Amino acid sequence: MKDDAIMLLIKSRILDVYNENLLANGTTINWFDDFKIILSEFFDVDMVHYLIFDLDTFRPLRANHSYTPKMYMIKWQEIEAFFYEKDFTETPFWDMESNENKTVKVLFRDRDNQPIGLLVMESTVKWKQFSESENIVEFIRTVNKLVQTIKQTIILIQQENQYRNLFSVTKAFNSTLDSGEILNGTLFAINNAFPQLEPTLILSNDQDRKTSVPYKLFDYTSERPTTVDAYVSGEITTELVQDLGIRLINVPIKGKQGIYGVLQLSAQEDYFFSNRQKEFATSLAETTGNALENAKLYIQSHRLVSDLQLINETSHKLNTNISLEEMLVFLRNQLMKSFLPEQVCFVFIEEEEYKISSASNTFFHTEEGQLYIQHVSNHFNKVKDSLFIADFNRITKLPYAYRSLIAVPFKEQNTIVGFSIVLHKDPYFFSFDGFKLMQSLIQHSSLAISNSTLSNKLQEMVNRDHLTNLFARKYLDKYVENSIEIDDRGVFVLIDIDNFKQVNDMYGHQIGDEILKQIASIIQKKVGEKGIGARWGGEELALYYAQMTLAEGIEMCKQLLELISSQTNPSVTVSIGVSSWQQHDNIDFKHLFHLADIALYEAKNKGKNQLSIMKVSHLS
Ligand code: GH3
Ligand code: MG
Ligand code: MG
Repeated sequence: MKDDAIMLLIKSRILDVYNENLLANGTTINWFDDFKIILSEFFDVDMVHYLIFDLDTFRPLRANHSYTPKMYMIKWQEIEAFFYEKDFTETPFWDMESNENKTVKVLFRDRDNQPIGLLVMESTVKWKQFSESENIVEFIRTVNKLVQTIKQTIILIQQENQYRNLFSVTKAFNSTLDSGEILNGTLFAINNAFPQLEPTLILSNDQDRKTSVPYKLFDYTSERPTTVDAYVSGEITTELVQDLGIRLINVPIKGKQGIYGVLQLSAQEDYFFSNRQKEFATSLAETTGNALENAKLYIQSHRLVSDLQLINETSHKLNTNISLEEMLVFLRNQLMKSFLPEQVCFVFIEEEEYKISSASNTFFHTEEGQLYIQHVSNHFNKVKDSLFIADFNRITKLPYAYRSLIAVPFKEQNTIVGFSIVLHKDPYFFSFDGFKLMQSLIQHSSLAISNSTLSNKLQEMVNRDHLTNLFARKYLDKYVENSIEIDDRGVFVLIDIDNFKQVNDMYGHQIGDEILKQIASIIQKKVGEKGIGARWGGEELALYYAQMTLAEGIEMCKQLLELISSQTNPSVTVSIGVSSWQQHDNIDFKHLFHLADIALYEAKNKGKNQLSIMKVSHLS
């Protein structure tokens, strides 16, 4: 056959390859298998590889690129010089199997003259002959057209698949505000597009994301530098992890307002990740980022409304007329409801002492609980800002059982008067939004609480006598009346200073006042927490002990007689009248007082500086 006829035949066979592989079958491309047959038939070429060009390297054609032995990779810059004049070249090559020492390379280019692929094959006599004929140019041009079309088709098919994939993901994401569904969809799409890659979601901390989808928490300190880099820069990074024999591709999950994490794809060391695949992964990660952002904004806007409701409800409740303790109990319930902490406490600083409110969990009275109060008070001694600890174990070597903590101060005109603490055992339990909400809750409550504390203080002032700081008579009246109602027994004591007129006359009124104060202080110390002392009027004082027996009361009064005469200066004595009641006496305060008054009168008559007792039975 003449050369021209052979050329025609070859061209028609190449057209067949084109027809069968592209037109008839739009998805799988086995063109090279068919093309190999042509090379074998016409040129006796049996050893042949086709390498496709990507970036700067020719790599063997494989359906999924999953395995690319390095020996078949050829860098463009290594061979570029051979192709200046013509598109094929013969170079010496030692091949053990074939024992040949020549290899032929044929270069194919696209319309812009950029490399597309490289045919690497054995050199045969027939090929040698053909390559020296005029037809070689026509042959290469024809195959080049085939290769160009094939490449174009592959791109189109891949793009179509990717867009189809992306489209279905986007559609799914647009119809959900559930971050779990979004993340699942992302993993699904990755598995679809890159079955040979292992995806890992590395997400920044965000408490809204309560999902069953497995993900790693992004951690600046332990993440690989390339992962941190992708997260910070918002650009894809890749890394060859030689010790693990893998290649990592970090794709930032970007939304319009921020970066929410990294989609990490792990492949075998020699996996080739093409530009087009990168584009797809980027688009997918961005779609995910936008969807997560939408979901987050939606949840946030909802939460904002409910946060405002909570603050409003709390302020409203706290500004109604309730006691401080009731307020704190209410506030604790609000905190429990909103943040689900395991422990809550309120601590108030009174005269440099820390008082734990009874609305707090009892845990804070334990030694362990005190650790947290100590930590927080140390903090507020230095700074006035709230404290947010995501994981206690990371800042201290001590094993803290409760790893999440929020502490917010109660402020009165910029002075810290106390603080509230919430704790949870899980690290990263409270969200930053939760922290913000708690701050605003406590801030809104601060005023009501300080008003209530102030009004308590004011009430105390009204209840007390200025000179002696003992309770006022009115307060004692109410106190005793209440005790008769709720207690089983009590002792009432009236005290009158002996010959006080004379004392005044002798030393002056001012010294008289001093003596009154001295006696008040002796009484205050003696009464302690067992009862209350009051100034009944003028130089008469009164005591009341709830739940005390008469015998105990008498003993107490004897000691008082002794203490007063010995500890006042100038020394004075007092006379004391004692009355008492117990449950079945059916007595009221007026009678109780009357009995003590009679007893006092008796003590004066008997010669003063002594006590006298009047029992209930004396009345009837
Ligand atoms: P006795 O009770 O032992 O019978 O004699 P007395 O002198 O204490 O009795 P009286 O009730 O006659 O006098 C009470 C005096 O107490 C009158 C007043 O000078 C004095 N007194 C009352 N209130 C005060 C006070 O707040 N300060 C001073 N310095 N003296 C007071
Ligand atoms: Mg008197
Ligand atoms: Mg007197």
